Order: sequence, then structure tokens, then C-alpha cells
Amino acid sequence: MSSPVLFAEVIIPLALPKNYTWSVPELLREQVKVGARVEVVLGKNKKYAGVVKRLHTEAPPFEAKDILNILDAEPVIFEQQLKLWEWIGRYYMCSEGEVMAAALPAHFKLSSETILVYNEEFGEDFSTLDHDEYLVGEALLLKKELKLAEVQQVLDSHRVYPVIKRLIEKKVCFVWEALKETWSPKKETFVLLNAKYDNEESLASLLNDDKKLQRAEKQLELLLSYLHLVKTAGEVTKPELLKKSGASDAQLKGLVDKNILWLEKRQVDRLQYLPRNISIDFDLTPAQQRAFDSITEQLVSKPVCLLHGVTASGKTQVYIKVIERYIRQGKQVLYLLPEIALTSQVIRRLQKHFGGYIGIYHSKFNQNERVEIWNKVKTGELKVVLGARSSIFLPFTDLGLIVVDEEHDTSYKQQDPAPRYHARDGAIYYASLFRANVLLGSATPSVESYFNAQSQKYGLAILGERFGGVQLPAIDIVDTKKMYGADKNKIIITPPLKSAIDQSLEQNKQVILFQNRRGYSPYQVCQVCGWIPHCKYCDVTLTFHKNTHKLHCHYCGTVYPPVHSCMACGSDKFTQRNFGTERIEEQLEELFPKARIARMDIDSVRGKTAHDNLIQQFEQGRLDILVGTQMVVKGLDFENVILVGILDADSLLSFADFRVNERAFQLMEQVSGRAGRKDKQGRVFIQVSNTQHPVLYFVQQHDYGLFYQQEIEGRKMFFYPPFSRVIQLTFKHKQKEVADAAAQLMAFALKIDYGKYLVGPAEPVVNRVRNQFLMELLVKLPKDGELIQRCKRYIQEQVAILHNDKRFRSVVVIADVDAV
Ligand SMILES: [Zn+2]
Ligand SMILES: [Zn+2]
Repeated sequence: MSSPVLFAEVIIPLALPKNYTWSVPELLREQVKVGARVEVVLGKNKKYAGVVKRLHTEAPPFEAKDILNILDAEPVIFEQQLKLWEWIGRYYMCSEGEVMAAALPAHFKLSSETILVYNEEFGEDFSTLDHDEYLVGEALLLKKELKLAEVQQVLDSHRVYPVIKRLIEKKVCFVWEALKETWSPKKETFVLLNAKYDNEESLASLLNDDKKLQRAEKQLELLLSYLHLVKTAGEVTKPELLKKSGASDAQLKGLVDKNILWLEKRQVDRLQYLPRNISIDFDLTPAQQRAFDSITEQLVSKPVCLLHGVTASGKTQVYIKVIERYIRQGKQVLYLLPEIALTSQVIRRLQKHFGGYIGIYHSKFNQNERVEIWNKVKTGELKVVLGARSSIFLPFTDLGLIVVDEEHDTSYKQQDPAPRYHARDGAIYYASLFRANVLLGSATPSVESYFNAQSQKYGLAILGERFGGVQLPAIDIVDTKKMYGADKNKIIITPPLKSAIDQSLEQNKQVILFQNRRGYSPYQVCQVCGWIPHCKYCDVTLTFHKNTHKLHCHYCGTVYPPVHSCMACGSDKFTQRNFGTERIEEQLEELFPKARIARMDIDSVRGKTAHDNLIQQFEQGRLDILVGTQMVVKGLDFENVILVGILDADSLLSFADFRVNERAFQLMEQVSGRAGRKDKQGRVFIQVSNTQHPVLYFVQQHDYGLFYQQEIEGRKMFFYPPFSRVIQLTFKHKQKEVADAAAQLMAFALKIDYGKYLVGPAEPVVNRVRNQFLMELLVKLPKDGELIQRCKRYIQEQVAILHNDKRFRSVVVIADVDAV
């Protein structure tokens, strides 16, 4: 009469060696579903919301505890997502729980450590809440934040998680994620002109005849700068207006009280609800059409196709046409972009064509919005999702195509924490579960992808000419060996570049300057003894930032007061060696006093909208020169840029990494590609002392093929990817000897079966970060799936053995598969 006991394998968002099993109590048996969340206790009393991976009747060798509650009547993820989690866990050597932690929006993840934050926007109307919800809501309103343990006390019941789940759904509270910045306010105050002044006549009479306004001179000034701003920017926010006009809050209030200006709180970035239709209002050029046809044809027989299109060839238009085909078949499409390239420029373009069918999945969005997108993808309401790396985890049900734009971009690979997955490679696996297609696109494909295309594993489509027939920019190599500034230092803007900038400014054209170092000066050297200030916690030199007037460590973020006398010899004479973006900006202001100059690096674009604002200003021609780090490279499309300067190419060519040439080529070709995108051929100046470096020649010729040929030979000779798979193991410990010994032990264990594939152990170039000493061990395995899997398992076993040894218990071991 008793049916067999039902068990559930549950994924908990933790780095556990495996998934554990709970039993499903009789009462819950009808409701429990694979892919839905359940509440379980792990250990003594830690509670988690885990995802059911499998239901079965095989009793585990221990007495399984009961599942406490079922949180979802319907699954939050499906079989394909569970398979993706499993694949990522196995391939990238981490637990499925770690994948779950990265995959689900915070609101789906509840544990005893969860902190709930009251949502101020909810207000205080609790009439829609039931008894339990009301109790917790009251406590939240009072304390603003509650730990789950506190909720438990409030409720004094075992039905805590279901209550919390409902409160989150009703948007009474948020789940706080400790590792993320707190979300920025979603609302911004916009300033609007009273609609009755919309026509010129009434506006003129307001400005000229209104007595009350005439007497308030400051208010009149403010109003004029508002009108000016609206004209150039389209929309004006209150902070922007006050900053630009130098007016006070009170003066603005004066105008608002007179009912001339209105203030309106608006959601910034909120998902717009656009009509659900597709409007493709352009035709492809003949070259684009050929690329499109080639892609279509190749995707019939191959799951993946690489689109190699030179910069400014209009790849996006081709993507849009390809996407349209899949949507018209009723399929869903995922369009991946590197996070930083996901700007409002791109979003606007896509929304224009796909209206309400498109959703954006972005780390800048708050958790409620992410859950909204999640659910709409699940129901199939959204047909296209534009998103960064983590959007490969969205619960698609009928995926037809994944586009990976800028597929070479290293930010597709997650560094920390685990899962250290590559979104491009994850996307290819994910698509295979749906028998969907993948379209990779780049002007500078990764060596791996191009190799796969050359060896017929992927299709290859070529888009070899720029949109509108504009020529690729002409490249001038400027030899800096004999050019020094007045301070006997590397010269920042060489004379040829200076005169080119002058020329561009005269023609009202824009200029982009690139330097991959931020701050003011990366080295401050004692002139007498050569001492350089270092970070206390890391083995790196400190960068002086003029903006903060402090020395910054770019590895751990520690900030130090500026150094005035040498710690070694006491001298007070320092030289600023080398230059960062801050110093360039300063020099530009001296050299081009009339130009409007801005800087784009992570220091200048902190905050949610700063990056977009800067792009918009540049786009609208309100800036002449933009100087920045890699940020200026990422997929930006500015029509009026005629000149690009790469200020210190030596710093790109001198990394100790097997991918150095690939990165240098990609960066230089991509930065160069910002020049002359419309009508006129652009110019690029590369300042460099090592003028004979072959990569410079490839960039000068814009010859990817030649670059690839040389690169692939080197990779083959030294057995690097794509000819091998690389697993990088890093050992971290606060004592150098312990990190060393742990790495040695691992190397010794690996030697038996994998000796010929080992490189190291060795110290990395920066061998101490945050007071932890680092050792690295590289395993270069032949491309033999079975051997690779065996080696990964073996490494994981050895890590467990290492951690069982008291001496090594606190050694952090990081395994990075396909490290970049
Ligand atoms: Zn000194
Ligand atoms: Zn540091």
C-alpha cells in the first residue's frame, strides 16, 4: 500500500563537491517538479532554496532529510538549463551550485545568509498582504533590513521561505547581494518645460515680456541654459541642469513655483514597453547581402558560422536580417555583447527594429527587472534578448539562434568567482541543446574561432569592405625612440600626432586617443636611488592619480597618501615615469586649449549612466577629443571621428603571455577601426619604439589573414591553444613557502600521468596580491576529450587531498580552464 519513497537531487548555490539528496514528504509529492525550487536544510540548521535536478526512487546510503517546502508551483528552469549548468560545472571544474549562483537572479536565491531589504517604492499600504506577509512587512518597514534568521523569529513558524518568496514577488522587499554594489536609484528627476511654452511665440513672450521673470535675473539665466541644453541633449535631468548652469536648487524651485518648468521623476533605464512588431527599414548593401546569403547557406549544414567583417562594415545590419529570419519562424534569439559594449547606442538600434519583442538583460538593471525578463523569456513572450555574458543562463524554451558579437572579446570569460566560464563557448553548447544555430562575429576573430572555421568545423562568411565603400584607415607608425619630452620622459603627444590633431580640429572632426593605463603616472621613481613606491599588500608599483591626489594600487584598490620623500634614501626628487589617461588629458588641455576634451576610463565613468552620457556627448559632437582605455574600443560607432592615436603601443606588445600578439593585434585593429567610419578615410598614428614588431605590420596592412598565419604557426610549434587545452592552476596563501609547497605537491602528483604536459610551477609576474602569495602551474593537454576529463577529475581529487592536509587546508586553489 505504501508507494516507494521519492527522493530529490537538489542543487544548492554553494561550492559543494556534489549535489545532495533529500526525500520528498508524502504531502509534497504531487507538487514537486524538476527545475522548481524547494527549501531544504543543509548541515545542522542552514536553510537554502535549492533547485530540484532529478526526482528518483533510489535511496541514498544515508538517511535523507525531508524537503521542508516547495517554493515554485512551476519550474524556474527547464531541462536544457539544467544540462547547461551540468556542462559548465564539468567543463570548468566547479560545482553546479556555483553555476546556479551565477545563473539565477538574486531574487531566486534564498539562504540563511540572505538579507532582505525593504523596497521604499512599495510604500506603506499593506492591505494586499496576508497575515504572515504583513508581520514581516511591518518588521521590514521598521528596520529596513532583515536577516532570514530575524524573519524566522518574527514568524515563529517553519513557513518562512514561502512567505519571503511572496513578499519578493509583491515587491515589498529586495534580496541584497553582498558582493554587488547596491543598486543605484532607478529614478531620476527630469526637467521639462511647461507645455504651453512649446511654441516659439509664447516662449518669446515669456522671455521678453514676463515681468516677474525679468526681475529674477538668475532664474532667467537658468531658463536660458535649460533651453540650450534641451536643444543639444534632447532631455535634461535636474542634476545635469544644475551642474551645467551653476544655478542653485532654490533658483530652480523658483521657476517650478512659477509653473514655467516642471519636474518629473522618471524611471531611467526602465524597460520600455514598445509595440510588438518588427520593422526592418533598410536594405543590405551588395557586400552585406553576400555575407547574409553565405551565412544562411552555411548554417544549413553547420551549427556555427563565423562572420569575419572588417571594422565599420555594418555587421549589425547583417545580424538584424539574420535575427529577423529566426523570429519570423517563431524562434527565440539571444544576442550577446560584451558588458561594456552594451550601451544605449546599441540598445536603441535594436529596439528600433524589434520593438516590444526585445528584452535587455544587463547587470545595471535591478533584480526586479531581471526577474521580469527571466519570466518573459520563459513564457516565450520575448523573442529577442540582448544581453551580456550571464544571459546565456536565461530559460529559453524555443531558442533558434545565438549571435555572439565581438566574439574575440576576453570579457566573455568570467574571471572571478567560479564558474570561470566562457560565454561564447557556453553559448555554443547551449545552442546545441536546442539544435539552434550560432553566429559569431568580429573584425578580429579569436585565433580559436578562426582555426575552427579554417578546419571546416564552423562556417565562414566574409564581409571585406566598409559600409559605403570607405577605405580602412591609413596607419602611420611614429618612432618614439628619439623623441623625449621636456622632462626627459617618454613623449605623450609626438609632433606628427600633434599636427594631425590640429588639422582634425580645424576640420571640426573628432579624435580618439588610446592608452591602456589609467591614472596619472604609473611610476614615480626616485631620481637618486631609483626607489619606486609599491603596494604593501601586492607586488606591484603604485599609480599616482591626480584626481584623488593619492597613490592607488590597481590590484587591491588600496589608496596611499602621495610620497614626497624617498623611503630608501630620503631624497625628495621624483620623476613621473610613463603616463596614464589622466596625464594625457592634462597635456591635451595645455596643447589644445580650445578643444573640448573628455576622458573615458573606469575612474571617469563610475556610476550608472556616466558611460552612456559620455558616449552620447561625443556622439552629438559636444566633445572634440576623447582619451581613454580599452573602453573607447568596444563596439562604439562614431561617424565624425577622423583620427585615432595609439599613444604607447610598446605597452601592448610586451606582455609575457602566449596571447600577447593576438591581443595587441585585436586592440590596435579595433581602435584603428574607430577612425573614418563614414564618407572619408581616417588616419591612425601608432606611437611606438619597437617599430620592427611584426604585429605593427599586420595592423598597418589591416591583414588579419597574414597575422593569423604567423600566429597559428607559433601556437602549433609551442603547443598552445587551439592545438591544446590549457588548465591554469593558481595556488594562493599568505605564506610564500606554503603556496610554493602546495604547487610543488600538485606538480609531483600530476607528473605521474601528465608529466609531459606540465609547465611550472612558477611565480606569476605579479606574485603577491592582497597579501596572498601566488604560484601557478599550467597543464597543456592534447585535445583528447577523455584524457582531458580524466585529468580534470584527477586534479579535483588532488585538490581534495591537499585540503585534507592540515598544512594546506587554507591554500586557495583556483582551476581556470581555457584561461585568457
Ligand atoms: Zn631614493
Ligand atoms: Zn595592492
